[in-house]
Amino acid sequence: MCTEKASSKFDAFRQFKCPKCRRGKMFTHSVFNLGKFQQMHRHCPVCEVNFEPETGFYWGAMYISYAVSVAMSFTIGVAIRVVFGEGLDINVYIVSIIAGMILFAPVSFRLSRAILLHFISPIKYDPDFEWDGVIHEEKDVIN
Ligand SMILES: [Zn+2]
Repeated sequence: MCTEKASSKFDAFRQFKCPKCRRGKMFTHSVFNLGKFQQMHRHCPVCEVNFEPETGFYWGAMYISYAVSVAMSFTIGVAIRVVFGEGLDINVYIVSIIAGMILFAPVSFRLSRAILLHFISPIKYDPDFEWDGVIHEEKDVIN
């Protein structure tokens, strides 16, 4: 497990690391593991902060996911227009956007939870946290 400290808040967010210590990973598996990409550690494996500050905390990620999905759809649509120009059938846009949404669903899911945890949750960066080198393994995950 890579526990190298992210250099900034944005790096920690981009690498899906803990907002408090910026070392522990939020998710248990790779984004390419389609069976378990959604599993999060319940507590940070480095600083043990609770990644679910309150019950049902990640329900709010659905609103963020909606915004992320709209942004992705718009980007895919504009990219198709720029690459292929005018005159394409509307069905090309619809099929491409749906395919893109399915393809990037794991990324959208993780991005939404990371935005919620890093920018909206009460968990803040602790510059005084000193890691003792111990990785706290637990079986309990957030799905
Ligand atoms: Zn942590």
